[in-house]
Amino acid sequence: MNINEERIEELRRLFGRPCNVVIVGHTNPDGDAIGSSLALAEVLTARGHKVTCALPNNYPYYLRWIPDSEHIIIYRNDDEHCTEKALGEADVIVCADMNALTRADALGEAVSKNSTAKRVLIDHHLYPAEGFDIVFSHPESSSTAFLMYSIIVALYGKEAITAKIATQLYVGIMTDTGNFAFSNLTPDLFEAVAALSATGINIPQIYNNVYNSFTEGRAKLFGYTINRKMKTLLGGRVAYMSLTEEEMRRYWFQQGDNEGFVNYPLTIKKMKMSAMFTAQTGFIRVSLRSRGDVDVDTFARRYFNGGGHKNAAGGKSFVSMDETIAHYINSVKEYHEEGLV
Ligand code: 5GP
Ligand code: MN
Repeated sequence: MNINEERIEELRRLFGRPCNVVIVGHTNPDGDAIGSSLALAEVLTARGHKVTCALPNNYPYYLRWIPDSEHIIIYRNDDEHCTEKALGEADVIVCADMNALTRADALGEAVSKNSTAKRVLIDHHLYPAEGFDIVFSHPESSSTAFLMYSIIVALYGKEAITAKIATQLYVGIMTDTGNFAFSNLTPDLFEAVAALSATGINIPQIYNNVYNSFTEGRAKLFGYTINRKMKTLLGGRVAYMSLTEEEMRRYWFQQGDNEGFVNYPLTIKKMKMSAMFTAQTGFIRVSLRSRGDVDVDTFARRYFNGGGHKNAAGGKSFVSMDETIAHYINSVKEYHEEGLV
């Protein structure tokens, strides 16, 4: 990956003396946010910096095995105000796998109260926000973890990549590429994976830890969602599914259990776009996926207060489930009339 050497030099200068660093990821943290944050934390800690990783809310149970994830502070449960203390002392705040502080909700607001720390952005989403001092914005990267690998190697060489760091980074790359099935699978990504593999990491075990570690309730909820809740539009080229709180309770829902469901309609050959609406407290979470030229980043921005990538985006809806679905159906119609789906 083409990393700007001047920015690497700025980072090197920044970390040239012992720093207090806070690394922040986005709400509903995924393997990429966690893996890339923890890898950077490990690299910096090994070089004498004091590092705190913070996330706005908790992450799914099938990611709890990731080395050092137990040290992450969950801001929503942080009754002892460790996050505020760390932010108050921070010389550097790194935002990883998010393009704006608003992606970290209340934690983002806490970060914005610190006006003295240098702010670093390391991300692969489109449209990075203003207000960062050093920006590594690479939407062409399959994952933030691959970008983080490239930055770590540019800073400290391949020797800096230990097996622990390789495991953390591999989780991010694997989850954000759908186990090497999505776009942006470049030769240099596989060179990075070769280097991670050379540290001796157990790739099948990492796969099993993430993808074969669900509960029985999750399997049943998945079957129910596809069988009973998947609806199609435009002659079977657009799909949507929804889950209410009552339906989730019925299958002993745990955070993260519906992750990936939205991809499944795209296993149908002619499907171009898929949506999943999940009830949360106070709003409905919208997940969107698409194939090829159908741009769900634009769709999410236009209709659902969100964004993301061209083929994977998300947003929020603040009306009822029925109204959200009606809004989706109308939006798909409008998008279709413009020739966008
Ligand atoms: P997911 O469907 O897995 O929650 O999200 C897919 C992609 O969309 C991710 O890259 C995520 O960062 C982005 N995304 C999800 N929700 C939101 C949102 O509310 N706002 C923005 N800007 N991006 C989102
Ligand atoms: Mn990511």
